Amino acid sequence: MRELSRIISADPALTGKMLKVANSGFYSLPNEVTSVERALSVLGTNVIKNIALSFVIAADLRGDKRSVFDFDYFWRRSVTSAVAAELLTNLLQIDNEDIFVTGLLHDIGVLIIYLSKGDEYAALLQERRDTGAPLVELEQRKYGFDHQQLSFTLVSDWGLPESISQPINYHHTTLSAPEEHRRTAEILWIADLLSAIYSESETAEKVRLLQDEMLSLFNIDSDQVRELLDEVAYKSIDILKTFEIDPGELKPYSQMLQEANAELGRLNMSYEYLVMELKEAKEKAERLANELRDANSRLKELVSRDGLTGLYNHRHFQEMLGKELARGLRYQSSVSLIMFDIDFFKKVNDNYGHPAGDLVLMNIARVVERVVRPSDVVARYGGEEFAVILPETNEAGVKIFAERLRRSIEGIVTITEGQQIQVTVSSGATTVSPDKAQISKQLMIDAADRGLYASKRNGRNRVTIVDPLALAD
Ligand code: GH3
Ligand code: MG
Ligand code: MG
Repeated sequence: MRELSRIISADPALTGKMLKVANSGFYSLPNEVTSVERALSVLGTNVIKNIALSFVIAADLRGDKRSVFDFDYFWRRSVTSAVAAELLTNLLQIDNEDIFVTGLLHDIGVLIIYLSKGDEYAALLQERRDTGAPLVELEQRKYGFDHQQLSFTLVSDWGLPESISQPINYHHTTLSAPEEHRRTAEILWIADLLSAIYSESETAEKVRLLQDEMLSLFNIDSDQVRELLDEVAYKSIDILKTFEIDPGELKPYSQMLQEANAELGRLNMSYEYLVMELKEAKEKAERLANELRDANSRLKELVSRDGLTGLYNHRHFQEMLGKELARGLRYQSSVSLIMFDIDFFKKVNDNYGHPAGDLVLMNIARVVERVVRPSDVVARYGGEEFAVILPETNEAGVKIFAERLRRSIEGIVTITEGQQIQVTVSSGATTVSPDKAQISKQLMIDAADRGLYASKRNGRNRVTIVDPLALAD
């Protein structure tokens, strides 16, 4: 022991690392270890030897930083495997002081194949990642041997005991392992699986596999597995620092779960927020659409109304007459039309002024609207000319109504600036009945117009009925 302590002490860097490891959380010693001798007596020669060995090997085979083969990844996994193997051994209350080095070196064959085959082997490793095919099988197919055999050969050549080399030789083929080395081979395999959880993707799937395997191999339940997983991370981070290997993203599994849950929560929250926003946007769009619909119908009303009287305008009258004619045709009903023009209206303007004339026009509009049926359409056809469409009204009906209308207008007294204004109208009326041949809209207007002018000619303030067929040819 004294000899060993002298050798180690001759290398100050190694001494420093050794004491760091001895005092790390890994061994949880009750008192601080301040000398190599003390470390040796507390931890034992085997442990110290293994620590030294680990440092030497890991430092020697650090590799080229620019290489496609990620040396840091390799050593991160090896150290994590070693830590996992050690902690699992403790958990199973198995006495094996070599387990850390065994774990650390179990995949050294991978490194050796890469160092000798380079890119060719890197491609094989890539194939394993892509296809998920077991590496040992791919290696056997390509080289006729695999990395566990190579690790075994190398470790044997280095003179390490069978307790180390044999489990390594079977860590992928535990069932073929000799009885006395099977348990350690299984521990190595599980440790490898565990370290993969911290280094590769599909974490949840691997954790499930690990839990299944640990239950069936070692009767360790899933809660204990989770505890072990966290412990491996904590201790690995510690040990990796001593090995001067970047622990990278390595963090305890429970923290990974927590972060994943938090991320999930955030995602959910933003999802809910999105749904809310979407709902609000939808409601707003619906509100806007309603407003637009209202505005549109108001606008439509506006463009179809005459500004002064509020009656339908010429354009709308044309449209409605077309519709009512078509409807009359469809339902075999009569449609009548009255057109009337104020008599001597120019004089009203001349005598009382234009605003007074406007007032007269408005009063006539109100009275006409009041005497017609709701289904009738009253329009201001032109300046002082009006039109009334009367659906489902025959010639006899329109004759009576036109007369009533004429008299109603005659009775209107418009009072302005103390003056009383009364006007009369000359009307022309016409009817399209279903028994008659089809009459066009224009022909109907022409007929009513002709009646209107006949009334004017015959002395005004009267109604003239004109049969549209009289104009038909
Ligand atoms: P007739 O009996 O032959 O129809 O004679 P009239 O004077 O009514 O006919 P004329 O066509 O000669 O004159 C129509 C008048 O109506 C002329 C025009 O200034 C007036 N007028 C047209 N639109 C309006 C309006 O919106 N407001 C007012 N105040 N007058 C209008
Ligand atoms: Mg007139
Ligand atoms: Mg006129």
